[in-house]
Amino acid sequence: MNEDADYKRHKKMIKENNPTITIDGISPDEMRLIIRTIISYIGDDPSREGLIETPIRVIKAWQELFSGYNQNPEDVFKTFDAAGCDQLILLKEIPFVSCCEHHIMEFSGAAHIAYIPNDRVIGVSKLARLLEIYSRRLQIQERIGEQITNDLMKYLKPKGAACVLECSHTCMISRGIKKQGSKMVTSSLKGCFLNEDSARMELMMRIK
Ligand SMILES: [Zn+2]
Repeated sequence: MNEDADYKRHKKMIKENNPTITIDGISPDEMRLIIRTIISYIGDDPSREGLIETPIRVIKAWQELFSGYNQNPEDVFKTFDAAGCDQLILLKEIPFVSCCEHHIMEFSGAAHIAYIPNDRVIGVSKLARLLEIYSRRLQIQERIGEQITNDLMKYLKPKGAACVLECSHTCMISRGIKKQGSKMVTSSLKGCFLNEDSARMELMMRIK
């Protein structure tokens, strides 16, 4: 669906106050009441003009932010023959947004995803798709990298897989220790990236 059609559908839904997806037995109407309660708990009046449509907007935003639950990572792995290709394949600085499972607050940053093929490759955009599937869920940063490299090793069977993530966490910037500008870096290395210094060094040099 193109953006324009999606935007129109979104406007129509807000106008009709009628998102349609019932999840785990909770209807959109029940969810709206729950979000109204949350607004009251925060200390505001959910019936004032600026907040009246907020529950439905939150439901819509969550459908997008958490769309990763409805997608199967296995679907990404249409592989292609690439006999003789045995050098580093790296998609770097892929921007992404996720949501920390401890505070339900955003964290965002960039991912670098790499593998060294074993005669099979996947379309390069599929690496970004895999990241979307796992980041659009309640997450911790460390797990996103692990899930991506686990899937690469399982479905593509490369010589090695790596995922390095650099993120700023809203829950650390705006609350708690309040450290503006800090970034957390995590890496998940499998196969030759873990066992061979030369493969790991090449990767680190390329993503610098
Ligand atoms: Zn958090």
